[in-house]
Amino acid sequence: MPNSGAVRVVRSLGSTVYNRRWCDEGPVAVISGEEDSASPLHHVNHGIISPCTLDAGADAVVIGMTRIPVIENPQYFRHGHSCNKPATYVQHIKRRDIILKRELGEGAFGKVFLAECYNLSPTKDKMLVAVKTLKDPTLAARKDFQREAELLTNLQHEHIVKFYGVCVDGDPLIMVFEYMKHGDLNKFLRAHGPDALILVDGQPLQTNGELGLSQMLHIASQIAAGMIYLASQHFVHRDLATRNCLVGNGLLVKIGDFGMSRDIYSTDYYRVGGHTMLPIRWMPPESIMYRKFTTESDVWSFGVILWEIFTYGKQPWFQLANNEVIECITQGRVLERPRVCPKEIYDMMLGCWQREPQQRLNIKDIQKMLFTMMKAAPVYLDILG
Ligand code: AMP
Repeated sequence: MPNSGAVRVVRSLGSTVYNRRWCDEGPVAVISGEEDSASPLHHVNHGIISPCTLDAGADAVVIGMTRIPVIENPQYFRHGHSCNKPATYVQHIKRRDIILKRELGEGAFGKVFLAECYNLSPTKDKMLVAVKTLKDPTLAARKDFQREAELLTNLQHEHIVKFYGVCVDGDPLIMVFEYMKHGDLNKFLRAHGPDALILVDGQPLQTNGELGLSQMLHIASQIAAGMIYLASQHFVHRDLATRNCLVGNGLLVKIGDFGMSRDIYSTDYYRVGGHTMLPIRWMPPESIMYRKFTTESDVWSFGVILWEIFTYGKQPWFQLANNEVIECITQGRVLERPRVCPKEIYDMMLGCWQREPQQRLNIKDIQKMLFTMMKAAPVYLDILG
């Protein structure tokens, strides 16, 4: 394990830009990309961590007019080629086997399409997939793409979106994922909230049907299951939020975004310097102040996910500007109890938002509590009226 204090800049899951300095206690993430005197984050460096400047050379990905600094993913290095782990074989898919059908969304790294893919499954001639594209990659971006593909190949769980492989013969580079019919969870929550109406020719027609308590608990417990798996792999996600989860048939929910995009939800991120984007509204005080990301900081984010679920997809601290959010969180304020949230669930959120990381609930305990509440859900529903 490197321990020299040298800073490396590589890509990260969750597409946040991090520099990382390895220190005696192990890795400490530093988000500091560029000098930014206006950034309220600047004064919180405490010795071990200091701002450093990103090199615009090999460490940057240029997509269109945007230069995206290459970001660190510590997992690549802990379990990467240099360790004694067997090499990962990423499946390669032929370009002629991928037929694009329509655009699903757009991210910082390129567009996401619904596509048909041939010869992917031994039982089916073709199947629907979601493909993420990366246009005009630099050499560094290609390498980075390969590493991310290796990482995704190794992450396999029923509540992590399935990664099928890559297509790298020509441009754009493509990553192929399972298609999740109902898209991202944030959009889904908003579409199933009290204010959601289906518009036909601009006229409100009907509602989608509001999510009930047992459905909300079911969604939360599936994300918790995915997180238990990530923690078992010593994997810190750093960007858990409903926008990064996907919804399939039968209310199946999976953690689905490992860092390809953050454009459409750009207001959820706080720009530090020119390029660094931080999901501050989902971050605990130690991540905001010291750039420390751990399984415990993921648990804090899970508390915020619970809040998002019970507000039908509202943005945390929607009434506050980013600098006010930073002030609030670092001073110890927490989000208020949503209107439709039972006390037991708000208590769980508070358990995720303990200031001391060690005092926070453990994700396995959270899942157990969610299961217990699910069994009792009809009773809660009565109370909620
Ligand atoms: P992303 O680049 O991952 O943020 O994706 C942009 C948008 O594309 C998301 O907000 C989703 O609505 C959609 N999307 C991404 N991945 C999938 C998928 N596997 N299945 C269905 N929709 C997806």
